[in-house]
Amino acid sequence: MAETADHYKNVPNLPPKITDKKKKPKLVAVVDEDNCTGCQVCVTFCPVNCIAPVPKTKYNVPTPPVQIKFNECIGCSVCARVCTKLTWDAIEMLPIAEFETKYKIELTDEKTPPYGIPKTK
Ligand code: SF4
Ligand code: SF4
Repeated sequence: MAETADHYKNVPNLPPKITDKKKKPKLVAVVDEDNCTGCQVCVTFCPVNCIAPVPKTKYNVPTPPVQIKFNECIGCSVCARVCTKLTWDAIEMLPIAEFETKYKIELTDEKTPPYGIPKTK
């Protein structure tokens, strides 16, 4: 029993309220869609509510993986910790410069359009 309690000790708390991005983060979360079960456990832990399932049309499966609304992410890493601790290991936290180079997207201080999910395929 003690081992079980130890395992859950480092699980982040649910956010007390949903807030908004106020500045460009240092990290941004990216989901490995091939690894994500679509369980959505991470969704309720995100303090800015920026995790959502990808459109069902993308994979045509009953439970699609999730992805991050990248321009809203504040880089808190909570989702990655939750995924690793409670479910799987499908979220990577990328340094902002690496993300911007890899996906050819420039992030700003604002929660601005393009509103959406990066194409990781
Ligand atoms: S907790 Fe992990 S496996 Fe579950 S939906 Fe989130 S990223 Fe996918
Ligand atoms: S790191 Fe994860 S939990 Fe934190 S804001 Fe970004 S998507 Fe949400």
